[in-house]
Amino acid sequence: MGKKIGVLALQGDFDKHVSMLHRLGAETVLIREPEQLQLCRGLIIPGGESTTLTKLMHLGGLYQPLRDFSQTFPVMGTCAGMIMLASQVEDDQRIRPLNLINVSVRRNVYGRQIDSFTTPIKASFLGEHAFKAIFIRAPGITKIGPDTEILMQLDAEPVMVRTKNITGLTFHPELTDDTRIHQNFLEQKI
Ligand code: GLN
Repeated sequence: MGKKIGVLALQGDFDKHVSMLHRLGAETVLIREPEQLQLCRGLIIPGGESTTLTKLMHLGGLYQPLRDFSQTFPVMGTCAGMIMLASQVEDDQRIRPLNLINVSVRRNVYGRQIDSFTTPIKASFLGEHAFKAIFIRAPGITKIGPDTEILMQLDAEPVMVRTKNITGLTFHPELTDDTRIHQNFLEQKI
């Protein structure tokens, strides 16, 4: 059984997640092929571009292996990574999601790159101090299933959600120096 944390390294800011995991003492594997998942006990899907991730995951034959992996191990997706984990994306011509978190998402709800922003968000699992959440061409969660827990909200909108062992965030915790969200991911029972 694998001991490392996989980071899907097809596209996007996977190196930032790797640095964050190393700071927490976790060993990592860059995942580009299905067989590499055998080394892992958890997986992160980074932000980037969900249209490109759709193409590359298809080319790499990664859809079913990622779905199988998620039956046993925790998976976390940030921004485009979260779009890929959703059950429904309001852009189904171009995006084929993995259907692992029971939510609908709409891409780019806050506007373009220039409309990116950073804002402090509090959540009970984080304790007293707010998390500096960085939103970059972020998606919005437009519908949420009954089996899905909301872990963080911004202006009453969910921005961090979890269905069983699968976590999605519409923002980028890997771009801060705050390790608490990655720590929470690593602490999940496996
Ligand atoms: N807007 C991008 C998409 O739709 C996501 C942006 C990001 O990951 N920062 O895939």
